[in-house]
Amino acid sequence: MTSTVAAADPSCAALEERLRAALGDAFRAETAADPHEPGLLSVSGLGGCTRRAAYALAAIGTPSANGAVVEERRAAHLGTWIHSGLLPRLAQVLGAHTAVEHPVSVTSNGVTLAGRTDLATYALAAPANASSDIPGAGAPDDAVAEVGVVVVDVKTVTVSVLSERRLVGPTRAHRLQVWGYAVGLEQAGHQVTHTVIIYVSRERGDLEVFVEEFGEAQRGAVHSRIARLLQWAACPDDAPRDTPAMAYDCPSCPFVSRCMGPDGVPTNEQPTVADPAVVTSIETAGLTYLRASAAEKAARNRKGLAKVELSRAPAPGRYGAVSVRWTKAGGIRVQLAEKPPGA
Ligand code: SF4
Repeated sequence: MTSTVAAADPSCAALEERLRAALGDAFRAETAADPHEPGLLSVSGLGGCTRRAAYALAAIGTPSANGAVVEERRAAHLGTWIHSGLLPRLAQVLGAHTAVEHPVSVTSNGVTLAGRTDLATYALAAPANASSDIPGAGAPDDAVAEVGVVVVDVKTVTVSVLSERRLVGPTRAHRLQVWGYAVGLEQAGHQVTHTVIIYVSRERGDLEVFVEEFGEAQRGAVHSRIARLLQWAACPDDAPRDTPAMAYDCPSCPFVSRCMGPDGVPTNEQPTVADPAVVTSIETAGLTYLRASAAEKAARNRKGLAKVELSRAPAPGRYGAVSVRWTKAGGIRVQLAEKPPGA
């Protein structure tokens, strides 16, 4: 990859500029080193954009992927780096019978999709003296096999997405993905009992853990989804553009120029949803979101003004109904001096 870092210049501004360019180059180098083939459908893409999956299954060429532009893909790399730090440690803590980045393949309706589970473990329920690991070759021994495998997928997200997941649970796309890994492990001879999705915020490391039993319904959903995608692969240009994150996913989609036209610019076209119930529920959700955003912004402004006033407190201590303290990090903590009754 050609470096975009300019020649040396001693000024602070020039150094900052060079460092920014170097950081961009570092992210792009990571993208270029990624052996991932974006035009293929893998288990991780099962629940994503239907049209993208249909293009991939139809083996449509990926002109934009062949272009010279290598994107930085910062969020994706940050997620990968968190995975590469966290997962081996988690596996270490869980102990034996745990595999990280375990390759799986799912065969369904005549196609085979490859993928890698973040983590799959017998350790969460295995008896302490069980002797088989999940991995590699062969099925586990009987003692472990009876206990079954728990399949774990970690998603790194922003704080706001984490809050959303806390409210409404994992996305259907993420569930399909982890169920896909479970089907792959079953097809390799393992008995899967549960799937787990862990959302971790990139900013603070807060997390949310969703555990679900794995059974016929989940297995069936994977096979039905693949069957449906194969139907769309016969006419991929008609498949729904149903990526849940259009603005985020489309620019890096290898089929963007085929899907969006020669400019390859994602458009916000009018939806063609005919079901009035769907229109009403999306409209209600949209209005609720806008009202909540406005209230959030106003609250943040009020909080900022109050903080400025609080910073004028001459010393930590009690001020009427509130007590004010300084934090070690130089911030201000304010709380009610006395707990309200019943709190
Ligand atoms: S550009 Fe966006 S909508 Fe079109 S196939 Fe790719 S992900 Fe789907």
